[in-house]
Amino acid sequence: MRAVDIIIKKRDKGELTAEEIEFFIKGYTNGDIADYQAAAWAMAVLLNGMTPDETTNLTLAMAHSGEMLDLSQVVPVAVDKHSTGGVGDKTTLVVDPLVAACGLAVGKMSGRGLGFSGGTVDKMESIPGLRTDLSIEEFLAQLGSVGLVLTGQSADLAPADGKLYALRDVTGTVRSIPLIASSVMCKKIAAGAQAIVLDVKVGLGAFMTNLEEAQVLAGLMVSIAYLAGRKAVALLSDMNQPLGWAVGNALEVKEAIQTLHGGGPPDFREHCLVVAGHMLALGGMAKDPEQGRMLAQQALDDGRGWQKFRAFVAAQGGNETYIDRPERLPSADLVETVPAPRAGYISGINARIVGETAVLLGAGRSRIEDPIDHAVGILVHHKVGDYLEEGEPLFTLHANQPSAIEVARHEMLAAHSWSNDPVPPLPLFYGVVENPEN
Ligand code: URA
Repeated sequence: MRAVDIIIKKRDKGELTAEEIEFFIKGYTNGDIADYQAAAWAMAVLLNGMTPDETTNLTLAMAHSGEMLDLSQVVPVAVDKHSTGGVGDKTTLVVDPLVAACGLAVGKMSGRGLGFSGGTVDKMESIPGLRTDLSIEEFLAQLGSVGLVLTGQSADLAPADGKLYALRDVTGTVRSIPLIASSVMCKKIAAGAQAIVLDVKVGLGAFMTNLEEAQVLAGLMVSIAYLAGRKAVALLSDMNQPLGWAVGNALEVKEAIQTLHGGGPPDFREHCLVVAGHMLALGGMAKDPEQGRMLAQQALDDGRGWQKFRAFVAAQGGNETYIDRPERLPSADLVETVPAPRAGYISGINARIVGETAVLLGAGRSRIEDPIDHAVGILVHHKVGDYLEEGEPLFTLHANQPSAIEVARHEMLAAHSWSNDPVPPLPLFYGVVENPEN
């Protein structure tokens, strides 16, 4: 078999066999197949698509490119969640402690932000001392002792995805349904959880900008999970405007802490309770997502979720004084609140522009090796549908570079659109995609 023949077959819209896909992924992982060949192949997949069978075979080949964890050695059931990427999406930091506080173990390997979308690992690293590079042995030990472990992707798990994702990011091949589905699901399958809740973001600040595409992606991921012997459910959630108020690493950690103390933005709190409800139901701790939501609400109200978050931070070497007094987390030198330029109803807050503006301030990176500034970011003070008088605070910029703040102010004003007439709020969710076999 030759890599070039596999590229040509996909270029000419052929259907690849399981053997061809396995050959290609193995060859790319061990360095026999070059980056330029993998880039050409990824572009052929992006342009010509893959059948569900091809996507499943690709997912399994990538999952098997490294170690496969078996969490049942450590806990009876472990649950995992994965977001397809959004703006202001600090959901994991609240949902996972709530679910773990209800007695269901959560073991998750998170990613870094790339482009306009944030990543949980970068957010966690706002907390001084917190380690995000746990070994597989440490991951398993903490899953058993604390019931909650959140770390960066281990080099031993799904290494094919590590290579391919970085390549896709710089070759215009991220936005492909089979490539996203296989990238997400190979990590989930390799990381070993038996139940997986997928948060598929839809809208301007997501990779899937329309509901039809998001439904296809969700259906595909749920059926891949089933074929791999895992339970899965996908929630389709809005990403037209940022989730919550905060966008930027330490700002989002502070908002997650506020939320775990019972405050925080109402849309974000509700989003977290719904996701947690589905995790608890899928993991068998609740009879349905509604009962799961109630259990999560109790863990939020009585402080067990917060205590679990503290225990996870301490177990991973984080300095608890920073989360007990979040004002000590990194904060920016320049803080500027920008007033509403007019009276009216907010009809849009373009999440994509907000995410790109946060990157411009230094909260994200344009290249994988770029450093980030944990302190900077944006707080939006309103949501779509809110009415404001001219001059009311609209958003606050947290910056460390005076030159960036000028551009950020301009971009953020352009991200807001207005109406003289009332505008309905955006829904949090558009639907749920389940496997009938769950
Ligand atoms: N998240 C992933 O893990 N992979 C993708 O391709 C897109 C989002």
